[in-house]
Amino acid sequence: MLFHSTRGGAAIPLADAIVTGLAPDGGLYVPEQFPAHNAADFDPQTNLASIGEQLIRPFFAADLLTDELSDICREALNFPVPLVRTRDQNLSIVELFHGPTAAFKDVGARFLAACLSRISGSDRPTVMVATSGDTGSAVAAACAERPGLRVVILYPRGGVSARQEHQLNCWGDNVLSLRVNGDFDACQAMVKAAFLDQQLRKACPLTSANSISAARLLPQMSYYAAASLRWHAEHGSKANFIVPTGNLGNALAGVWARRCGMPIGRIVLATNANTVIPRFLESGQWQPGDTVATLASAMDVGNPSNMERLRHLHPGHQDLVEQVSAFAVDDTTIEAVIKDSFHSLQMAVCPHTATALAAYKQLSGPSDAEHWIALATAHAAKFEGTVEPLIGQAVEVPPALAALLRRPTRQVDIEPSNGALREQLLNW
Ligand SMILES: *Cc1c(COP(=O)(O)O)cnc(C)c1O
Repeated sequence: MLFHSTRGGAAIPLADAIVTGLAPDGGLYVPEQFPAHNAADFDPQTNLASIGEQLIRPFFAADLLTDELSDICREALNFPVPLVRTRDQNLSIVELFHGPTAAFKDVGARFLAACLSRISGSDRPTVMVATSGDTGSAVAAACAERPGLRVVILYPRGGVSARQEHQLNCWGDNVLSLRVNGDFDACQAMVKAAFLDQQLRKACPLTSANSISAARLLPQMSYYAAASLRWHAEHGSKANFIVPTGNLGNALAGVWARRCGMPIGRIVLATNANTVIPRFLESGQWQPGDTVATLASAMDVGNPSNMERLRHLHPGHQDLVEQVSAFAVDDTTIEAVIKDSFHSLQMAVCPHTATALAAYKQLSGPSDAEHWIALATAHAAKFEGTVEPLIGQAVEVPPALAALLRRPTRQVDIEPSNGALREQLLNW
């Protein structure tokens, strides 16, 4: 299937959209159409990889990667994504944190790496990503196991947790992790400058692994499909979803999955104190602002780039507000919910997941006729500094994460200058 930019222009094959990342006109790649699946054609009991493959196969039609899709899905979607009932009978949780780096970013990062490793050698770009934590570690982990790939990660000194930093720096020679003596915006500015540096890109072809990547969005549709199909098979009704939201990549995948015919009811977005999305749905005015630092740091986004894809799909404001609704959740509430759900649901949740549980509480009168599925986007052990004091005990570290934390690390520091990054890349 062909993909084109949200801003128009010529359509290109999916594999090219994956390699290119951002369209040359600054827009984001979207599919020319969405397949119309029938839920009854899926086996809800089969694994995530099979459901994902069936769901996204039409996007890979006539593509360079079409014959590889089955293997890509099997390699990338190879960890459990359980749908767990809670003590509240109207609420279930999809645990998206059983991958190698304990956050849902593993799904997209592993799929992207599996795709890129199948692009032939000379066309295969180096992956570059600025990260505030979870994306960088997921991309590093996914690429580290594929020696043919190279990945450069820029993260802000002092801007990530100790465990996140360990996960960024514990890899082999094909992962270059740079600790930038600046903030996240400085990291992003360096990445942007590198992408605009044509001379550098000739010497070192680059692609982005940020959540604008089509190869991250498409596989994220599969856990919405798996959870909704299972719910539908067992109860005959559509489940509603609540999604912790920052750059809108995760939530957009849910909107796309519903558009493809998956039995999904309402989609509710939960943001932290970065309220640009709820304010937009309320007023119709798109007013991106400065990023506010919150406890749910992976959602600290002042200008969510995937909104451009959502608005492309639903250009009319009335149409858009019928597709999604949103709640903003402040840090005080995040803390209260982490505490409360530890007692009432007997679950330790990360600050991002807590925003979804807070949004659930704000829904106007959830009735027994409706079931809600909240996405748990990271394991609480990744944010132990916030969670443990609130619940008054240690959070057990999942085995995959514990294995990473035992690996040795090495540290490369860099000044926030485009020249310094260039030098690192050319001398690598
Ligand atoms: C990245 C991230 C989010 C936000 O996802 P978006 O796709 O940017 O909306 C939420 N929770 C966690 C744990 C994350 O790492």
